[in-house]
Amino acid sequence: MDNKDTADTEKETSAETTTGNFIEAIIEEDLLTGKYQGRVHTRFPPEPNGYLHIGHAKSIVLNFGTAQKYNGLCNLRFDDTNPVKEDVEYVEAIKDDIHWLGYDWEDRLYFASDYFDQMYSYAVQLVKSGRAYVDSQTPDEIRKNRGTVTEPGNESPFRNRSVSENLDLLTRMKAGEFQEGEHVLRAKIDMSAANMLMRDPLLYRIKHARHHRTADKWCIYPMYDFAHCLEDSIEGITHSLCSIEFENNRPLYDWILDALEIYHPQQIEFARLEISHTLMSKRKLLELVKLGIVSGWDDPRMLTLCGLRRRGYTPSAIRNFCNRIGMSKRYSMVDYALLEHTIREELNQTASRVMAVLEPLPVIIDNYPDNLVEEMDAVNNPEDASAGTRKVPFSKVIYIEKEDFQEDPPGKFYRLAPGREIRLRYAYFIKCLHVEKDCSSGTITALHCSYDPQTRGGSAPDGRKVKATLHWVSAQHAIEAEVRLYDKLFTVAEPAGVDDFTSCINSESLRVLQECKLEPSLAEAESGQRFQFERKGYFCLDNRDSQTGKPVFNRIVTLKDEWVRIQQKMKDE
Ligand code: ATP
Ligand code: MG
Repeated sequence: MDNKDTADTEKETSAETTTGNFIEAIIEEDLLTGKYQGRVHTRFPPEPNGYLHIGHAKSIVLNFGTAQKYNGLCNLRFDDTNPVKEDVEYVEAIKDDIHWLGYDWEDRLYFASDYFDQMYSYAVQLVKSGRAYVDSQTPDEIRKNRGTVTEPGNESPFRNRSVSENLDLLTRMKAGEFQEGEHVLRAKIDMSAANMLMRDPLLYRIKHARHHRTADKWCIYPMYDFAHCLEDSIEGITHSLCSIEFENNRPLYDWILDALEIYHPQQIEFARLEISHTLMSKRKLLELVKLGIVSGWDDPRMLTLCGLRRRGYTPSAIRNFCNRIGMSKRYSMVDYALLEHTIREELNQTASRVMAVLEPLPVIIDNYPDNLVEEMDAVNNPEDASAGTRKVPFSKVIYIEKEDFQEDPPGKFYRLAPGREIRLRYAYFIKCLHVEKDCSSGTITALHCSYDPQTRGGSAPDGRKVKATLHWVSAQHAIEAEVRLYDKLFTVAEPAGVDDFTSCINSESLRVLQECKLEPSLAEAESGQRFQFERKGYFCLDNRDSQTGKPVFNRIVTLKDEWVRIQQKMKDE
């Protein structure tokens, strides 16, 4: 979180998420005054050095969404100015993720590297006008002479080289005559500027590295600050929306464009998205992958877009989440529970309800006919009548959850216990008669129950009540599956603030259950379909590890809504 020391960032509480969209206010003002002839043109500028995460989604929704709202355009531009860390693998993955989120750049796909020639000629222009010079101090000297926040810097002894000497050196830098670190190109601004970034910032450095697009054509590469404003200018961007850590870079953005006297977009900063219990930096996410703490960039516990997608999040839930947290200039940490709340709310409306027993305990219904199979009517989605009903087979041996039975129940346990009657959802009342155990270990292996044929459909003609309704699956019809239950990856709210984040990994963040018993309709489950396993949460097929006949389901989110509790607590306080 490199943005924390920025002057006007401060902490907000997690629930205080929306502060109104100040960016739209600026754009509307510009539309009124005709600042950009009524145009709105934004861009999303990822560096192809990792996969996108939910923080990037905030920027994507902002840039593409704002353009949509004002009938404008949004470019996808790969900011590929650092050849060392970048890779085509990431370029393709980033494009996939943006399309998946529901946005399209049409024919406006750009690469900063496409502008290297033009950027170079702008550099030459700065040299010619005496506003840039080649510095030959060592990297160490450059650092020392930059000064500190409290002390001004020292001018480089090379600062007053002649234009022709600068041009000669720059040309030879480009031609590959020098080693890395021998020379750099710097803007000639002010070594005593209060803003350290204005103390003759570096514009170009020598890097003898192969670039994934320009190959070996270049051995000098532009610095971010030089490149970014030029990219925006070349593309005719109107509003360059970037995260708050670039606030101090804005004067430089403006200085370069003014010095070159070229088209000048407006940079506007907004706060980065931070979510509790997660890391939000590509570098750290890469470390999680490399250390094997997660299974890959698309591990369903990662808040990368590919991880969220595999976990079962929908693009619409992520867009909603991004809109819901609002836009602010102030640093804020959003509670993880809000993200979960957003997907839960959507799935409550859209997901089919099914029955699945994750930790099965066999129940034999002694008085049920041996070979009878009844088809019970089950409601697909109580929130959506148009989803209709389905048939669920019922027979003499069924499974219920182990945790739904206790031999010696405590006071508040209302589910099944010896001698007690409960309702099986969509079926009958059953009563527990006795318990079968393994003689040596004493563990419960099965229950024997009786059923009341009068209670079909779930109510008794004599009006007697039961205190619990359990889900179940018919043993002979069940399909087997592996089910993966996920929890937060970190045990602390701000893992980025912990020196060694590997020390706060939640060891319970993945629980794998084998031989879960699912109702037979789930044999037809398709990748991308999402279900509510009644009483257990929302689930979807894992699109990577599922095989025909061997399904793997991921839990997207539990049913328990932490966010509602957090909001209630805030109100009470
Ligand atoms: P990271 O810090 O994860 O490495 P980055 O900022 O280096 O991310 P870029 O590829 O440069 O990644 O980001 C592309 C765009 O996404 C930038 O405009 C950046 O401001 C924005 N962005 C990155 N992280 C966040 C975040 N957490 N919240 C909002 N916007 C973000
Ligand atoms: Mg970046």
